[in-house]
Amino acid sequence: MNPINSMKLDFESRSVNEGFARSAVSAFIAQLDPTVDQLADIKTSVSEAVTNCIVHGYRDRIGRVYISAALYEDGRIVIKIKDKGCGIENVEQAMEPLFTTGNSDERSGLGFSVMQSLMDKVKVRSKPGGPTVVTLERRISSKGDTNA
Ligand code: ATP
Ligand code: MG
Repeated sequence: MNPINSMKLDFESRSVNEGFARSAVSAFIAQLDPTVDQLADIKTSVSEAVTNCIVHGYRDRIGRVYISAALYEDGRIVIKIKDKGCGIENVEQAMEPLFTTGNSDERSGLGFSVMQSLMDKVKVRSKPGGPTVVTLERRISSKGDTNA
C-alpha cells in the first residue's frame, strides 16, 4: 500500500534535538487529527527511540539521526528512527524490560518496553557495527472511533 503522505528528516545526535524530533513528527501527523492521547503516545515513543540513538548508538560522538514517517489511508502511521552508530549485539535481550548497557543512575532499561506499550508494533533491526532501525507503527483513527 502506498502512503498518502510521507516525510524524512535528519539531524545531529545532540540531546537538544530530542524536542525538535518529537515536535516535528507530531506536527506531521497532526493532519490525521489524532487525539491528545494518541499524539502523546507517539511523541513519547519517538523520544525514547531518538534518545537511544543519541546515548547508545553514538555514545561519545555526534552522528546523524534519521527519521521517516509515512501515513496510510487506513489511519496507520509508520515511523522509522535510524542511526549509524555502534549497533546492538543482541536485539532480543536489548528489548527485555530492565535490560540496559547504560549507567544505572540515568537509564532504567525501559525505553523499548515503553515503546511497546504505547505503539501497536515495534520492530528493531540492528547488528553490531551496523545501523539500528526502530520501526514504530500505530493506527490513528478519527476522534470518537473506539477502535483507535
Ligand atoms: P531507558 O530508555 O529506560 O533510559 P535504556 O535506554 O538502557 O534505558 P532501552 O531504551 O530499553 O533502555 O534500551 C535497552 C538497551 O538497548 C540499551 O541499554 C542499549 O544497550 C541498547 N540500545 C537501544 N537503542 C540502541 C541504539 N540505537 N544503538 C545501540 N544500542 C541501543
Ligand atoms: Mg532508552
